[in-house]
Amino acid sequence: MAAVLKGIDVVNSIKEKLIKEVEFLKEADIEPCLGIVRIGAGEDDLSYERGAVKRCAGIGIKTEVYAFPEDIPEEKFLTEFQKINENDLIHGILLFRPFPKQIDDAKVMNVMNLQKDVDCMKNENLTKVFLDDETGYAPCTAEAVIRIIDHFGYDLSGKNVVVVGRSLVVGKPLSMMLLKKNATVTIGHSRTKNIENVCKNADILIAAVGKAKMIKSDFVNKDTVVVDVGINVDDDSNLCGDVDFSQVENTVKAITPVPGGVGTVTTSILAEHVVRAAREVYENTKHFKKR
Ligand code: NAP
Repeated sequence: MAAVLKGIDVVNSIKEKLIKEVEFLKEADIEPCLGIVRIGAGEDDLSYERGAVKRCAGIGIKTEVYAFPEDIPEEKFLTEFQKINENDLIHGILLFRPFPKQIDDAKVMNVMNLQKDVDCMKNENLTKVFLDDETGYAPCTAEAVIRIIDHFGYDLSGKNVVVVGRSLVVGKPLSMMLLKKNATVTIGHSRTKNIENVCKNADILIAAVGKAKMIKSDFVNKDTVVVDVGINVDDDSNLCGDVDFSQVENTVKAITPVPGGVGTVTTSILAEHVVRAAREVYENTKHFKKR
């Protein structure tokens, strides 16, 4: 039976340090705050929002939710978003995408303040991931995967890591982050031939596909460590990953569950980024405040 790599263990290890950092910042009159900007009320967005609000509250981070109607005109949204962006009391912004069709993604990204882009939505932050420049914010989900692997003590150096999925949100940036840790990275996607065999050779297999229970026991071997990024709903309306957990857990060395795996850690990374953004404000203003 595989070791189950629970996200909560990683969350707890991050939490204590963050609580202390938040206390320090509050002493200095800075209350870390995440602005959550949502258009419409999609169930996935609401679910992620609830998780983020709860995680932040547990650490002492304030959250402000700005919800707009699905049919908000572009100009009106850009005006409102600019105000949120310029609000000095908000240190990080979580923005739900994709936007409704009347809103041009590029225009919103143009407005977005780079210092508040705590989930790597702007190309500038994404570029930094590809350049191994750690001054930016990596996508929270990709960073959560790395943190889980680190936390449970799996060394990436020289290992064969297969990432299934090549999206700009997860697969591609994650592959670059794994490469930085000296993993030998293979990226699988919908056109990959014999994907089962490609996956079967992995020391670490990361599924970021968006297909419920696609990864079966013939994709893995007894030494594979499986990290499941997927969040899907199965035929019985239950939340599940991209990996068929009940089938695969009997075959592999270790596996992250869904729910309770990567998604759990993602909101902690988001909280960590907000605290980092607030700390940067503190560092940039402390000399000014002393005078
Ligand atoms: P996405 O943009 O839809 O990308 C899916 C990727 O999977 C694409 O690269 C696609 O290949 C590949 N793919 C699709 N079918 C495939 C198949 N049969 N065989 C091999 N590859 C296949 O999805 P995403 O945004 O990266 O999200 C992936 C999953 O992670 C989703 O379940 C999502 O809900 C979840 N997610 C979780 C978190 C979290 O915090 N845990 C955060 C974000 C996303 P092509 O490029 O060839 O089309």
